[in-house]
Amino acid sequence: MTENLVEKLRNDRDLSDKELKELIESDAYDKELYKAADEVRRENYGDAVYLRGLIEFTSYCKNNCLYCGLRAGNNKAERYRLTKAEILDCCEEGYRLGYRTFVLQGGEDPYFTDDIICDTVSEIRKRYPDCAITLSIGEKPRESYERYFKAGADRYLLRHETADKEHYSKLHPDNMSADNRRRCLYDLKDIGYQVGSGFMVGSPYQTTENLIADLRFLQELGPDMIGIGPYITHKDTPFKDEEGGTLELSLRMLAILRLMFPYALLPSTTALGTIASNGRELGLQAGGNVVMPNLSPVRVRKKYAIYDNKICTGEESAQCRGCLERRIESAGYRAVTDRGDVKRMRNRDDK
Ligand code: SAH
Repeated sequence: MTENLVEKLRNDRDLSDKELKELIESDAYDKELYKAADEVRRENYGDAVYLRGLIEFTSYCKNNCLYCGLRAGNNKAERYRLTKAEILDCCEEGYRLGYRTFVLQGGEDPYFTDDIICDTVSEIRKRYPDCAITLSIGEKPRESYERYFKAGADRYLLRHETADKEHYSKLHPDNMSADNRRRCLYDLKDIGYQVGSGFMVGSPYQTTENLIADLRFLQELGPDMIGIGPYITHKDTPFKDEEGGTLELSLRMLAILRLMFPYALLPSTTALGTIASNGRELGLQAGGNVVMPNLSPVRVRKKYAIYDNKICTGEESAQCRGCLERRIESAGYRAVTDRGDVKRMRNRDDK
């Protein structure tokens, strides 16, 4: 019975693998699933949508992830780095627009040593004591994460990408491992960061079983934020002929996450907005409660090309705030600009 599966997930925040498979593979539950996800999101967060100002500060990367346009092996990629002064200008603009979270994201760029990262983070911390500082700069030794935390960073985004080791090895070169990525996530949590993880929907070779493994891993980790979005092909990667993830499956996974993790911060991602013009609005209606407007200088935005046709990279993109606010309102929600900390932490065991 269709009704029971969604209700059961909502009440128990869990299902068996077999039930999850049914829910993930069928389109029969979608309407009911989105409705339940929206209700649960309203119970926990009302109509609030949190804004995070995203600063993409370097497009250099030493890694060679097979899906990503910034991979080291892509010699067609245009590379740039922002200076400390430019990063601080982005924060100033963001603060003026009302953002109280800055997300510093980039490739794994060896130029940005721990000293440089800490210097920038502590300057932002000093200037904006009321703001959250989020880092998203990949896999580092525990000591580095500790240093950034001491310098004033309070959140870290690191998607696990896929929880299945074999699948992970199909998406990444031999020198990267699912184990190290997990080690990073547990270190970050242990140090005291609010942690965001997540995965791509429809990445090459992904199976329903892989998606179920992703949900199980997230239940184990208990992250504060879960970022998912469709995989989108980049023309200068080894996966250039692979198909992208669908809107339908991305929205379905988002709604399942909302029912499993009622407390979580779930971004309606740029990738979702890239595969459908109203993708982010639909993402909010399927349980999403965060959007991440781009604060990077307009001249570099096209260069942070992790996938093809990324939106909000043209001249009009300086107006992100107004555009996003209208989109949020048109979807039936309200943009809020406070720090938007996670409401409460709940693992499966203490529900
Ligand atoms: N270097 C940082 C930031 C990576 S970019 C890190 O390793 O965490 C942020 C996210 O974009 C990645 O975690 C990945 O899930 C996503 N991404 C990368 N390439 C993509 C693609 N082709 N399609 C969709 N999402 C992609």
